[in-house]
Amino acid sequence: MKINKLFLPNKKTFSFEFFPPKDYMTAVRFGINVGQLMSLKPSFVSITYGAGGSSRDNTFDLVDFFQNELGLTCMAHYTVVGATREKIAYDMRTLQDMGVENVMLLRGDPPKGSKVFPENPDGFNYASDLISFVKKNFDFCIGAAAYPEKHIEAASMDDDLDNLKRKVDAGADFLVTQMFFDNDYYWEFLDNAVQKGIGERIIPGIIPITSYTQIKRFAEISGAKIPEQIEKQLAEVQADKQKVYEIGLNIAKKQSLDLLKDGAPGIHVFTLNKSRAAVELYDHIPKIYK
Ligand SMILES: Cc1cc2nc3c(=O)[nH]c(=O)nc-3n(C[C@H](O)[C@H](O)[C@H](O)COP(=O)(O)OP(=O)(O)OC[C@H]3O[C@@H](n4cnc5c(N)ncnc54)[C@H](O)[C@@H]3O)c2cc1C
Repeated sequence: MKINKLFLPNKKTFSFEFFPPKDYMTAVRFGINVGQLMSLKPSFVSITYGAGGSSRDNTFDLVDFFQNELGLTCMAHYTVVGATREKIAYDMRTLQDMGVENVMLLRGDPPKGSKVFPENPDGFNYASDLISFVKKNFDFCIGAAAYPEKHIEAASMDDDLDNLKRKVDAGADFLVTQMFFDNDYYWEFLDNAVQKGIGERIIPGIIPITSYTQIKRFAEISGAKIPEQIEKQLAEVQADKQKVYEIGLNIAKKQSLDLLKDGAPGIHVFTLNKSRAAVELYDHIPKIYK
C-alpha cells in the first residue's frame, strides 16, 4: 500500500525505522526485536540505506522480507551516493518488481572524515534531483527528509526550506523529520514550511535515547541540539545504562504525547533496532491517538 493513502484526516500514523543488521548475532537480536514490534501493528516500517556502511543488498533483502514475508507496508530508503542514473533506474525497477510501493529518497551523508559531498557527474548531487527522476519514471509514494533545526550544511533555515520546497515540487508526497528534542522547533518549522507553500504531511522523527555517548555522536553528526537540561540529566547518570534508558524513554514519551496532543500527524520512531523502548513508548500513547 502507498503510505500517503494512510493519511486520512484525523488518522495518525505510527511507524518504525530499522537499519540492516551487520552480522549474524545482531541479526538474531534484530529478529527477536522485530517480532515484538510486529504486535504493535505499525502503520509502516522503513529500512535505512547505506547508513553505517550497510550495503544495497542488505537493505533490499530486508525490505523484501518486511514487505513480502511479514506483509507490512514498507518503505525503502535510497540515496544518490555512488549511484549513476542507470543504477538508480535498475534499483527502482528491482524494488518495483518486489512489490514495494514506497521509497524514502535522500542524498546521503558525505564520506566519513569529509564535510563536503562529492560531485556525482553520472548521477545526482541533491535529493530533489533524485526525487524528480524517480517521480518521472516510476510510480512510488515518495518520502523525503526534513530538518526542524535546518540541515547541518545549509547556510540558513530559509535556504533549507527552499530546498524542502524543491523536494516537494519534485514529487515528495510526505516528509519525515530528523530527530529533535524541543517541540518548539517542530511547530515553528511547520509554520515556516506552510508559509513556503508546503502542505504535505511532516511526520516528526523521535529517538528514544538509550545511550549518552551515542546520542552525543548522533547530535554532532545531525546538528540536532540536546537541550541543556536533558544533557545535564543524562551526563550525571551516563555510566548507569538503566538510568539513561529511563530518562531517555521518559523524554521520548513526553515529547511524543505533547506532539500528538498538539496535533502532530503521527510519530516515526528511530528504533535503532531495539524493541523495548519503542514498545514502551507506543504503549504510553493513549488509544484515542492510535
Ligand atoms: C528521516 C531521515 C532518514 C534518513 N535515512 C538515511 C538513510 O537511510 N541513509 C543515509 O545515508 N542517510 C539517511 N539520512 C540522512 C541524510 O542522508 C543526510 O541528512 C544528508 O546529509 C542529507 O540528505 P537529504 O536527502 O536531506 O539531502 P538534500 O535534500 O539533497 O540536502 C542536502 C543539503 O544540500 C542543500 N541543497 C539541496 N539542494 C540544493 C541546491 N539545489 N543548491 C544548493 N544547496 C542545496 C540542502 O539545503 C542541504 O543542506 C536520513 C535523514 C532523515 C532525516
